[in-house]
Amino acid sequence: TRTFFIGGNHKMNGSKSMLESLSKGMNESVESKENVEIFIAPSYPYLDFLSSRLDNKKFKVSGQNCYSVAKGAFTGEISANMLVDLGIPYVIIGHSERRNVFGESTDLITKKTKYAISLGLTVILCLGEQLDDRKSSKTEKVLSDQLKDFASFTPEEWSKIVIAYEPVWAIGTGVVATPQEAQDTHVFIRKWISENVSEDVAKKTSIMYGGSVNAENCQNLSKQSDIDGFLVGGASLIAADFITIINSAV
Ligand code: 13P
Repeated sequence: TRTFFIGGNHKMNGSKSMLESLSKGMNESVESKENVEIFIAPSYPYLDFLSSRLDNKKFKVSGQNCYSVAKGAFTGEISANMLVDLGIPYVIIGHSERRNVFGESTDLITKKTKYAISLGLTVILCLGEQLDDRKSSKTEKVLSDQLKDFASFTPEEWSKIVIAYEPVWAIGTGVVATPQEAQDTHVFIRKWISENVSEDVAKKTSIMYGGSVNAENCQNLSKQSDIDGFLVGGASLIAADFITIINSAV
């Protein structure tokens, strides 16, 4: 049985007062479940603030990104070493906004993932196709290209990777993938891992779905056998909605 991950990606949103009340609501309304891991990725300045308010037995905090080297003259970047220093176990790498708004290449994303893993962080590795790709039946080609550098990662490295499949056309649009579309794509990703890494790694790797997940559609998505969690944007900023999504975890 794979771990079911539920992550809130706050992107560039939030404030001390918002995180204060979100933490309070989550601490009071969520009970830990076996095989379910819950985390929030706040905007960088709030990492330590949020960590100090969440019940750390139930919830973890995640970085939204980190660079490929330990330290140095890289204005605006943060390092995996800093996340480790703060006791943070997770980092999101390769989010579509990093790829598409900030122009990050698959090559850079691979380097960052390798470095973060080498320090013991678990990487939430995001993949996803654009609307045009899906319309022209290129989804599998795009995902294979995004994954190809990871074929050389060892099973030990893969044990620190959680995939987040986030179709770009579903992010922030209110257009969610249907449970069947998500399931089929997750099956494809798992097959890719099986053929290019190993069957054992494919079986063990959790694949989260992200893109317009909300308090209503989470139930049917979570019933799909290859959906092993959710990466939630907008709905993770609203305590009641995020708590409902967390409690939908099977
Ligand atoms: P939304 O849930 O707002 O569509 O965002 C999804 C996402 O990008 C999570 O990383």
